[in-house]
Amino acid sequence: MRRRILQNVAIVIRDGVPLAPFTTLELGGPARHFADAADEAALVEALRWADDRELPVALLGGGSNVVVADAGFNGLVVRIATRGLLFETSGGDATVTAAAGEPWDALVAEAVGRGLGGLECLSGIPGLVGATPIQNVGAYGQEVAETIRSVRVLERSSWQTRSLSPEACGFGYRDSNFKREPTRFVVLAVTFGLRPGAAPVLRYRELAESLAGTSEAPPTLAEARATVLALRAKKSMLVTAGDPNRRSVGSFFTNPVVEAAEAEAVAARAGDDGATMPRWPAADGRGRVKLSAGWLIERAGIAKGLRRGPVGVSSAHALALVHQGGGTTAALLALAREIRDTVRVRFGVTLVPEPTFVGVAWNLASG
Ligand SMILES: Cc1cc2nc3c(=O)[nH]c(=O)nc-3n(C[C@H](O)[C@H](O)[C@H](O)COP(=O)(O)OP(=O)(O)OC[C@H]3O[C@@H](n4cnc5c(N)ncnc54)[C@H](O)[C@@H]3O)c2cc1C
Repeated sequence: MRRRILQNVAIVIRDGVPLAPFTTLELGGPARHFADAADEAALVEALRWADDRELPVALLGGGSNVVVADAGFNGLVVRIATRGLLFETSGGDATVTAAAGEPWDALVAEAVGRGLGGLECLSGIPGLVGATPIQNVGAYGQEVAETIRSVRVLERSSWQTRSLSPEACGFGYRDSNFKREPTRFVVLAVTFGLRPGAAPVLRYRELAESLAGTSEAPPTLAEARATVLALRAKKSMLVTAGDPNRRSVGSFFTNPVVEAAEAEAVAARAGDDGATMPRWPAADGRGRVKLSAGWLIERAGIAKGLRRGPVGVSSAHALALVHQGGGTTAALLALAREIRDTVRVRFGVTLVPEPTFVGVAWNLASG
């Protein structure tokens, strides 16, 4: 362990720190070097420490969307632990600015508790605020791109902090410029625009149907949050102690977005099932179609609950790959590759993984 002090900023660099306990998959080897960044000065200092040594850096939030190599990471892992929440209301407008290290679901709960709409459908997503813009997290009919007003970042090449507009973030479905250029920025804080007294967003049919008829009055934000949490619990899409499906990254693959003609071809390959194949217009305004990765996986013959030793498919959700304990990242990736290949052979669609790979490349891993 070493301590480096510069301009009264102390950071502790630890060597050989196991990363598995910092991930929801509970898989992966050690970080060669590891630092916790409890404030922005420490974060900058840790990044400079790595730059001085020409070491690669991996940023870690809650570890709920990362797959770490069994060999670990041969660089510095910086765990973002910055805190701070600021709610501001002016007339009919409300914002909250949250430091990157704030736990996401606590922020959602606080917003809902204050009667502020905009985040309620994103209840129960694990991880920290700073990671939410990275893949534009979304669920149950909402995504953060709809509410993000600005993202304060540190640009790593210039060491400047900047405030990025939503347009500059380049948000797409489970995508953003942060994901496309992963070494360019560190997210320091995110400002969300919220709607005081708003009704919950009920675009997602399963959520709307679950809430329908539960009371005479229109559903409240709190009821929407409770319903989302209940739906997620049924699908093991919460990290709940004791749940055998709890070690996952949530959905392992994104839903494929394809041209309309390709969607027709996939439906044709599905035969009799094609008529009921789930599909939605993609939100990219280009006439493309979003398919359900989970449906494709199941129709390709991969059942929920499939096991390959200590890894498998969640018994509650075909899109979640789970680790049962005592497994390896290599085994998980072999199963992911098997699923990708099976779906490709059956439907001609190549599934793309959702999480970030640390110390291992998906394409190399997939052979
Ligand atoms: C049970 C379960 C359910 C899930 N459900 C959903 C869902 O419904 N919708 C959804 O979109 N996702 C879902 N996820 C995925 C995951 O929770 C989200 O992507 C979440 O935002 C990741 O946050 P994290 O703090 O754990 O990020 P991490 O896993 O620690 O990091 C993810 C990526 O973001 C980068 N990163 C993290 N913090 C920063 C920062 N401050 N600046 C720059 N880069 C950073 C990391 O380097 C890494 O590339 C689920 C995961 C699980 C385990």
